[in-house]
Amino acid sequence: MKPKKHLGQNFLINKTIANKIVNAVNLQNKVVLEIGPGKGALSLCLIEKAQEVYAFEIDKSLKQYLDVLEEEHNNFKVIYDDILNVDLNKFIEEIKCESVSLVANIPYYITGLLLNKIRDTKKIDTAVIMMQKEVGDRILAEPGNKEYGSLTVLLNLHFNISRVVNVKRTNFFPKPKVDSVVLKFERTNNHLDGLKSLKNFYEFIDAAFKMKRKTLLNNLSNYYGIGKDETTEKLQKIEPDINVFERAENITLKRFIALSNGWYK
Ligand code: SAM
Repeated sequence: MKPKKHLGQNFLINKTIANKIVNAVNLQNKVVLEIGPGKGALSLCLIEKAQEVYAFEIDKSLKQYLDVLEEEHNNFKVIYDDILNVDLNKFIEEIKCESVSLVANIPYYITGLLLNKIRDTKKIDTAVIMMQKEVGDRILAEPGNKEYGSLTVLLNLHFNISRVVNVKRTNFFPKPKVDSVVLKFERTNNHLDGLKSLKNFYEFIDAAFKMKRKTLLNNLSNYYGIGKDETTEKLQKIEPDINVFERAENITLKRFIALSNGWYK
């Protein structure tokens, strides 16, 4: 079978890395959702460790490889569907699970959409995801780093995030044009508990990072259509020592939570 470029089929060929990915989570007695099993490079390791594995694969022509695994292991089930069309909340409800882990080596172009889906599926408590190195660096960036952006803040609101392993492009067949990294996302309510409104927070972050090179003052004033003096006053009420000429890329998650809570008062 010829790998399909348009489906991002770059198959992992390094067993040590497959093991590192699977060992990043404790899968004992756990139900796992695998996205994009391909020819089963990760599936076999998952099947051996987890209680059950449900794999979502868009490409039916991979059935010839996955059928063998399904026949040999009764805790492995493949669903041939586009993960972006699957209602994961409903699926987890149907399999009667309180919490699941998710493992995915997926095409780079669906990373963002899949991350949003995972974020909004509360019963996924842990996710281990392979992604383009540059995207991983943005997600892990610290405040003050130019990579730090809205993606960083929004994901760190919901998850404790850590790097599992860097993966060079030579570990795939065919070899992609970029290197990868595997990140682990562990759901946490630590930050959410202090937040008054998730919807307002998302809007505030969108406003603050609207134009990356602009100051917080300019971005908020433009986005909300209020004058600079009023914007300054509003911000100083929340954080008296604030430097309104700061850029959003310097502001920590904790400060963003306080700023958004106060902004919509
Ligand atoms: N997990 C395998 C591995 O590590 O070798 C395959 C990884 S390959 C990078 C990505 C896999 O995701 C392919 O099997 C591809 O067919 C599948 N895929 C692509 N888009 C998908 C989608 N929207 N929903 C489900 N699977 C998808």
